[in-house]
Amino acid sequence: MSCLFCRIAAGEIPATVVARSDGAIAFRDLSPQAPIHVLVIPTEHITSAAHLAPGNRSPVFGEVMALAAQVAADLGLAESGYRLVVNTGKDGGQSVDHLHVHVLGGRQMTWPPG
Ligand code: AMP
Repeated sequence: MSCLFCRIAAGEIPATVVARSDGAIAFRDLSPQAPIHVLVIPTEHITSAAHLAPGNRSPVFGEVMALAAQVAADLGLAESGYRLVVNTGKDGGQSVDHLHVHVLGGRQMTWPPG
């Protein structure tokens, strides 16, 4: 298995896991860009948001988003707010080719993003 995030999901590479659900796992980003920075991934390999086919893939992404919202709430971000980011492809700044949602919080976010 060569995909980094598949290996994290399988427990082959250590990560600080903060939550799991059926089909998704949440762990701390190695290089946090905010006081709270968690990644939420589907346990099954999906390369990017561009690879979400209508219909059959939607439940998986729904699971990922639900876990992202749960993690944000569990980490105390529900009231202050937070940002969910899905970098997609080269111009989107995606560096790991396994779909992931960044949960960023604990500071005021700025717009537009870089
Ligand atoms: P992206 O640039 O949107 O593809 O996000 C990939 C993220 O994965 C970056 O924020 C990295 O810091 C993070 N990352 C890379 N390797 C690891 C790892 N082994 N454990 C946790 N986070 C990682």
